[in-house]
Amino acid sequence: MENANKFYIDGKWVEPASKITSDLIDPSTEKVYATVAMGNAADIDSAVKAARRAFATYSKTTIEERIELLQKIYEAFIKREADISKTVTLEVGMPISVSSGFLLDWCKLHTLETIEILRKYAFSEKLGTTTVYKEPIGVVGMITPWNFPIGQIFTKILPALATGCTMILKPSQLTPLDGLIVAEILHEAGVPAGVFNLVNGDGRVVGEAISQHPDIDMVSFTGSTRAGIQIAKSAADTIKRVVNELGGKSANILLDDADFETAIESAVVNCFLLNGQACDAGTRLLVPRDRLDEATSIAAKVANAYVSGPPSDPDTTLGPVMNAGQFKSIQAYIQSGIDQGAKLAAGGVGRPEGIDAGYFVKPTIFSDVKSDMTIYREEIFGPVLTISAYGDLEDAARMANDTVYGLAAHITGKDMDKVRQLSRELRAGSVYVNSPDFDPKAPFGGYRQSGNGRECGEHGFTEFLEIKAVVGHG
Ligand code: NAD
Repeated sequence: MENANKFYIDGKWVEPASKITSDLIDPSTEKVYATVAMGNAADIDSAVKAARRAFATYSKTTIEERIELLQKIYEAFIKREADISKTVTLEVGMPISVSSGFLLDWCKLHTLETIEILRKYAFSEKLGTTTVYKEPIGVVGMITPWNFPIGQIFTKILPALATGCTMILKPSQLTPLDGLIVAEILHEAGVPAGVFNLVNGDGRVVGEAISQHPDIDMVSFTGSTRAGIQIAKSAADTIKRVVNELGGKSANILLDDADFETAIESAVVNCFLLNGQACDAGTRLLVPRDRLDEATSIAAKVANAYVSGPPSDPDTTLGPVMNAGQFKSIQAYIQSGIDQGAKLAAGGVGRPEGIDAGYFVKPTIFSDVKSDMTIYREEIFGPVLTISAYGDLEDAARMANDTVYGLAAHITGKDMDKVRQLSRELRAGSVYVNSPDFDPKAPFGGYRQSGNGRECGEHGFTEFLEIKAVVGHG
């Protein structure tokens, strides 16, 4: 890719401060397919200076000007769709059916939704003798993960651009290429110089430089709870706002009146989405005790029908996991499930039959999983579903909440009174009822160690605003 060894700072492709590069490895073949420049604190400093200069004027642009800019971004995005799908499939091993469908729709729907919010948003209100103004927070540092790469970039840059902020993006060092495409899209759309800046690199050096930088006003982070803790600590000295979107171990509760065939198929599909690497996936399926065997055999049948293979093949339904580290960690989790006495109903350790290269994990189902088992408690981030039995709905809620996380929960059932009541008992930022369609208006974020703050919709938009009270003028 033309700009893989450059960064986008102040509206131009520039040489990095150092000559360090990193190899990118195709997760489906384990072969190097590109190298990319790695940044350092000096690159971040140049980007912050550019963003700070640009803030002086960009923060004063009108709503109409920013709506027009977002519309141009939408048009430029559409021109690059095929490129984006191909790149994400190469980088992450996302099946092409997902990267050319759900992923693109996600970015487009969020863009349209952001335009809609911007059109209607009240940037000031009267309260007593006070006028309250909502103003852009300033220069935002954005640190994103690899699992849904351009999607996570879009959920940050759109509200930042809409509210009048300027920004520095550091995508995951494992998926830098689609970040480069984003920079090209924004350049083509006419985003003014310095408003958006891109520096590639790892978390320890570049991520840390963002968290610590005294002239960055906010860090918007998506990734692991481990890194979120570190970022919050590093940001504390400069009191910047930190929005942390972190890991999860979400429950999926099936009520007794659910249609088990379709509900369990959806549960497996949800857990295995993004090759089992979706942060809000329902990875702990909870079913009524007397239907555990029935649920297990349906889930095993669905898992066994998955087709592992090259992610660029439209028939592939399960691609590889991200890298050797993830593969090894998932294998260890599967082994721990076996060792701790969970019932292996599908999959297991090793690669799927007939595949001898790439980080492919067998689609795996464990049943009769107890709450003290490691696979019940820790985020595996691979295609591994655990099934556990509950007694009554109170028990189901208690089991769902028995986690340090609180990103999401899923419920399937027909009795909507029971569903609604249960949804209020769950300590999670999103509760998905009966496998709903994606809703770009829904705020997204976690309770407990799944994070703080929200992304998406109007709630995500307001994270990028500061509040000013002008008292005594009304
Ligand atoms: P990760 O935390 O390893 O890396 C995410 C990003 O943080 C990368 O850009 C990385 O370079 C950077 N980073 C790592 N350590 C850092 C540090 N000390 N300081 C600053 N930056 C640092 O996560 P990952 O492996 O890329 O992604 C998977 C994790 O992300 C999973 O835990 C998943 O649940 C979570 N996730 C959460 C959401 C959400 O919205 N809540 C969405 C997607 C993924």
